[in-house]
Amino acid sequence: MSNCQIIAIANQKGGVGKTTTTLGLAGALAAEGERVLVVDADPQGTLTLACGLQYERGAVLKPLEKALADVVDGILVSPDTYVAHIEQQPFDAIGCTGALAALDPIIRSEPGGETYLGELLAPLRDRYGWILIDSSPYLGAITVAALCAATDVIIPTPLEYWSIVGLSDLLRTAQKVKCRLNGDLRITGILRTMVDKRTLLSRDVEAMLSDFVKGKIRIFETEIPASVKAGEAALWGRMLDDYAPARKVAKAYAQLAQEMIIRREKDGEER
Ligand code: ATP
Ligand code: MG
Repeated sequence: MSNCQIIAIANQKGGVGKTTTTLGLAGALAAEGERVLVVDADPQGTLTLACGLQYERGAVLKPLEKALADVVDGILVSPDTYVAHIEQQPFDAIGCTGALAALDPIIRSEPGGETYLGELLAPLRDRYGWILIDSSPYLGAITVAALCAATDVIIPTPLEYWSIVGLSDLLRTAQKVKCRLNGDLRITGILRTMVDKRTLLSRDVEAMLSDFVKGKIRIFETEIPASVKAGEAALWGRMLDDYAPARKVAKAYAQLAQEMIIRREKDGEER
């Protein structure tokens, strides 16, 4: 059996740090010597842009929506046509364009359409130890397909009142997917992002979060600090090199990667 962990980074709330977490965690896992692939399943294409991927008409490299359209049509596609090896990044990527949004109703109307992303990723499970899927805040068929393809889901959330309230939406969705479509899905944990310990409010919300999960869902020990530079340094390498204030964010993602690796080893021993 493949040891690949496919992690959907998901939250139905926008701007909570899903894309930053996908990039930060991917870079940190790769720095630990892990083989990592990131998948942009959000038609906003932020991850694709951050990776510097561009899709030209007629080019050999296909964006996610074209590769998925091939799966819909039953065409066998080689991963080499859609997996990009990026010079500036220590991980590989499957990017997308805005046209991915147009695939949503097609996948929704196909019998078993929610399994197509998993089918596309299946041949890659032997190549990578970790596949991280950045998902859209919109709960469309593609986000459901990401949860169906995943072995794990990580839910990034800032320590803000409305974000904690919004968590229940994603948890309900993940539970439904687990019960009906993907029994193997693990709700791996809630990741606190953009944390500013100086504020009293964040401490109150922290207590509210513990109360909300009631020990049933793991909250990662690692928390990601707030840094105004985190966004500007969206590329992992730049987080480490160019932008000193973003380095504490890079360090936190390195700690998260270690937490994930240790957890995987423990899970392996328990099995
Ligand atoms: P969307 O739902 O639109 O896809 P998202 O959940 O992927 O958003 P990001 O794009 O990762 O969220 O982050 C939202 C904004 O917050 C960006 O401007 C990003 O630069 C900023 N940001 C992310 N992480 C941090 C952090 N640790 N500290 C400060 N700002 C951050
Ligand atoms: Mg995003």
